[in-house]
Amino acid sequence: MNSDTIKRKVNELKNVLSSCIYPKGFCCEICENESDNIRDGICDECKDKLVPFIGNFTIQYIDEVYSMFVYNDASRGLILKFKSGNRTYLAEFFVNFMVVPKSWDYDVIVPVPSKESSRLKRGFSQCDLLAEELSKKTNKPCDLKCLKFIKETEDQKTLTRKEREKNLKNAIVSVKSVEGKNILLVDDIRTTGNTLKECARALKKQGANKIYAVTCCADVI
Ligand SMILES: [Zn+2]
Repeated sequence: MNSDTIKRKVNELKNVLSSCIYPKGFCCEICENESDNIRDGICDECKDKLVPFIGNFTIQYIDEVYSMFVYNDASRGLILKFKSGNRTYLAEFFVNFMVVPKSWDYDVIVPVPSKESSRLKRGFSQCDLLAEELSKKTNKPCDLKCLKFIKETEDQKTLTRKEREKNLKNAIVSVKSVEGKNILLVDDIRTTGNTLKECARALKKQGANKIYAVTCCADVI
């Protein structure tokens, strides 16, 4: 077993233990208060803080994009908990809210890949978990090994819009042919849409037909 595999195993174990420490459904996932009015994991008060994302957003190479929530303090808090590894079951929470339009005719669900450094740090990839949950919900297959980061890019948060685009260019590849397939991409947060665009570009290179994308949250920009 090499050191990367050991590191990943340790992180996976930590996540399992954390899930035991933070059992689901005990208190509100956003304010963390105990309440009798918790439905779908959140209390009535916090439900109002999750704002549905309404509006059109277009991304090159992608036929249609849909996001559930506006990326605000409430949804950001949830995403951070989800990514921190303590609450990997939040994948189920987000997917419960995920609406995939009936008109989308897709063959396979493909998660946006994580950089190897993030995967090693967390022990999991949050988009893989979302794709697996969505696959269970929709009975469509998911392919976690289709897209891959082939270079370690800089953290997008610190870069300008133009720099982000350059940073990600040719950083993602599809390692297999998706000739003629319609694909549903899954991501946690959509900001400028650059990551999704690069994923779609890679899939088109490998022959993808239609590409759709669904994200938990979206920045209003
Ligand atoms: Zn609450």
